[in-house]
Amino acid sequence: MKYDVVVVGAGPIGAIAARKSAEDGSRTLIIEEHRSIGSPVQCTGLISREALRESGLKPETSFIYQRIRGANVYSPSGRSIRVDGGRTRAYVIDRKIFDRTLVTRALDAGSEIMLSTRATALTNTEDGAVLTVEHGGIRENITAKVVIGADGAKSNISRLCGLGRVKRTLTCIQIEGQYETCDPGFVEIFLGNRFAPGFFAWAVPTTETIARIGLCTEPEKTPPHEHLRRLLREHPIVSKRYKGSCTSLTLGSIPIGALRETSADGVLIAGDAAGQVKPTTGGGIYPGAICAKIAGRVAARGDPRRESLREYDRMWQERIGRELKIGMQIHNAIGKLSDERLDEFIHLLSDEKIMTLVREYGEMDHPSILFGKIASHLKKRDLFIFTGRLLKDLIRSR
Ligand SMILES: Cc1cc2nc3c(=O)[nH]c(=O)nc-3n(C[C@H](O)[C@H](O)[C@H](O)COP(=O)(O)OP(=O)(O)OC[C@H]3O[C@@H](n4cnc5c(N)ncnc54)[C@H](O)[C@@H]3O)c2cc1C
Repeated sequence: MKYDVVVVGAGPIGAIAARKSAEDGSRTLIIEEHRSIGSPVQCTGLISREALRESGLKPETSFIYQRIRGANVYSPSGRSIRVDGGRTRAYVIDRKIFDRTLVTRALDAGSEIMLSTRATALTNTEDGAVLTVEHGGIRENITAKVVIGADGAKSNISRLCGLGRVKRTLTCIQIEGQYETCDPGFVEIFLGNRFAPGFFAWAVPTTETIARIGLCTEPEKTPPHEHLRRLLREHPIVSKRYKGSCTSLTLGSIPIGALRETSADGVLIAGDAAGQVKPTTGGGIYPGAICAKIAGRVAARGDPRRESLREYDRMWQERIGRELKIGMQIHNAIGKLSDERLDEFIHLLSDEKIMTLVREYGEMDHPSILFGKIASHLKKRDLFIFTGRLLKDLIRSR
């Protein structure tokens, strides 16, 4: 079999890349190891309006459960701030239907798809790449000018082409269950090292009585289900609202820190496979969709040489490279705060002027803009005291 572009992985990023490549006139094939698109689901399904737009979809009722205006953020001691965007800022989606809609768009654009087909080997040739796949126990070779590896967090393609895997991952666990949602237009974020060390826990409503409740942590000794058990049983707010049922359990990992290089001879890597994920929230659909479109366009030019494919690295870095880097700095800084400092941090943010900035600039996808604005508005005295305490913590911990 011979194609111009073969996309490995029919997740959202593979589907968007394939659609773009087919729209640009390339004969495009998607291969997916699972029998059906969109399962198993490993996602909370919270995506911003911009992420939806970058994915090329309108807010269709077929996959939208809930419209989200803002968030209630709880500090470790239970202090809370309400961030109200004033209008719909994000959606809670059904990921399975979302993924299927994206794949359908790729097929509408002319792509083909093979399900239950797993990529197992990759060889370079002068004309591009030969991908070995297994399908129903049969092994065959598919040639392509360019292979796009959109095969997720544990990408084989990035390893096989010598780019290596993303080194840093967050460990995540989530359930969906009955939950007394105070206001279905708001998600809840819970900070604190007892429940989600290094990151945060959440309750994202899908209806007035059901929520996705989960958490991410830096990999550590305590297993994630132990943190989840604590969150559900011992967290002062979650334990009261959670009603004890569970209709799904998801375990997954989120790669953070993008690969330095995402192109090799005959190969491009996109989405989770390339670590194109926001380190502040773990959201991969917005940055991945931007990169997928660039990957599809560059691959469709049909030039498999690395010098030519490097244009992909340059273009996506220009669009979101800085945001991902600053996101990582924010993640590293906040992730190291003790519970006491997290409390103080939330107290600093609760100032009315800061909340106005949050309302104005609080886009989920561009935290660097908001953090810049906040830093310049914080009272110098407060900032000085907070930084002084941080330094003391640092010295004590050495
Ligand atoms: C618990 C959790 C919650 C999350 N919540 C959010 C959220 O609310 N919002 C958000 O934006 N992001 C969220 N994310 C991240 C988001 O799910 C990912 O960023 C997104 O799915 C990345 O899409 P992808 O297409 O790159 O990879 P994936 O969705 O992982 O798709 C990769 C596809 O490749 C296939 N594949 C893998 N290897 C092969 C192979 N060798 N051959 C053939 N096929 C293969 C897989 O079967 C899969 O279908 C969350 C992640 C987790 C773990």
